Amino acid sequence: MKHFTSDTWTEGRVERLRALWADGLSLTVIARELGDGVTRSAVAGKLSRLKGVKQRPTVVRVSPPPRPKVVREPLPVVEKPQPTIAAAEMWHALPGTVPISLEELTRDLCAWPINDTKPYLFCGCKVARGSFCAAHASVGYRSDAEK
Ligand SMILES: [Zn+2]
Repeated sequence: MKHFTSDTWTEGRVERLRALWADGLSLTVIARELGDGVTRSAVAGKLSRLKGVKQRPTVVRVSPPPRPKVVREPLPVVEKPQPTIAAAEMWHALPGTVPISLEELTRDLCAWPINDTKPYLFCGCKVARGSFCAAHASVGYRSDAEK
């Protein structure tokens, strides 16, 4: 079904024929390009039997180059830096404060951990909200505050 006449016109050669024809080459040149005993009249005959290639097409590339798809990337979510503590400084003692140890920690002092290795140290500032000082509460209770 794919071969109209003989094995001369394999699918690949037909594709090539279409491409050469679409490039505007003459029958003679196409015949020479295809080689293997293909004559000018064989090319002409094949072209006349192929649908859609009878006339010089303006746009008959078998597979037109695909248009580069512009994929819309979602905009990166820019985290709003907290007014008091930058994310990078979140786990460091606040400037001007002296971290305290677990033993020194009381209910009135900020229990924000400022390290993750022993001995564990905590912020130790005066508690403003919950268990944290104002600065750490703004980070620790961020989701609550914004709702
Ligand atoms: Zn604190």
